[in-house]
Amino acid sequence: MREAGEVMYVNLSVVIPVYNEVENLRSLHHDLSEALADRDYELVFVDDGSTDGSIEELNSLVQLDPQHTLVIELRRNFGQTAAIAAGIDHSCGEVIVTIDADQQNDPGDIPLLMEKIEEGYDVVSGWRIDRQDKLLTRKIPSRIANGLISKVTGVRLHDYGCTLKAYRREVLQGFRLYGEMHRFIPAYAGWVGAKMIEIPVRHHPRKFGKAKYGLERTIKVLLDLFTVKFLMSYASKPIYLFGGTGAGLIMVSVFLLGVLIARRIILDEHLIRSPLLLMTVMLFILGFQSILMGLIAELLSRTYHESQAKPTYSVRAVLKSRGIEEEVKGRV
Ligand code: UDP
Ligand code: MG
Repeated sequence: MREAGEVMYVNLSVVIPVYNEVENLRSLHHDLSEALADRDYELVFVDDGSTDGSIEELNSLVQLDPQHTLVIELRRNFGQTAAIAAGIDHSCGEVIVTIDADQQNDPGDIPLLMEKIEEGYDVVSGWRIDRQDKLLTRKIPSRIANGLISKVTGVRLHDYGCTLKAYRREVLQGFRLYGEMHRFIPAYAGWVGAKMIEIPVRHHPRKFGKAKYGLERTIKVLLDLFTVKFLMSYASKPIYLFGGTGAGLIMVSVFLLGVLIARRIILDEHLIRSPLLLMTVMLFILGFQSILMGLIAELLSRTYHESQAKPTYSVRAVLKSRGIEEEVKGRV
């Protein structure tokens, strides 16, 4: 068994969030071991507060295959995204593959994902072409959500929701996962300039256990989409959004003021007679407030970036000539 903090070399870490999947674990472990037999890999199971004996089953898998198996036991149920984040934090492979524990994804597809990574892609996204879930509560909402996410983030994928994906570790650096955010990793990766490809993967109906989600998940995903869009476009320049909105509102209010004055002069109408005056004042206050909010957001953004030493850019590589480097060093 691997000790905490111990460093070892592995090429591939498979991260598996587990919540009440006791009947799936043994056969999943078997299939994963079979699919990855000729590789250097680790299986990081994260028990997300299961109550059905999954943890005991996982413990016995560690005994069975200590060389490849690592189990992280969370103290309670934190949700799939948090479980995936915990798994990634505790893994050490150069490449990370995430896969569901419910055997709906097929471990046999992992070598296909790895092939693409080896070709030089940073992110390989599984696409469940023939998805085996309920049509009305899962497939249709998911189709709409995928379209929307693709449009809003500008990163076009058919299946954001498919857990089976592979990432080079570097593209995950600096991205914290909240809410239902694990599905947005590809969008984030695209945003920092990762090379991405989508490949069809198999999908099986659930044999054991229950699906943990229904329609309500789509709503959470859509709300997360707002956050992601905001963070992507404005996290380092929030005043553009708030200030822009504020300036727009103030412009409308000035225009309305003009209309009011014109009506006063031309039609000789009392200002308070019309509701327009109220609108003008309200829009002006709203606009002004929005600009002030933008300034506060700017302060927050600086705290965010500087307290965590988060850069506002992402570097792919630094190219320099050794000769010049030596020369510079010599001069100092
Ligand atoms: N899961 C988890 N924590 C949760 C809910 C689910 O770790 O709170 C795991 C679950 O065990 C499974 C994966 O996340 O491995 C996906 O769950 P599920 O199959 O219910 O979702 P679906 O495939 O329907 O999206
Ligand atoms: Mg599932």
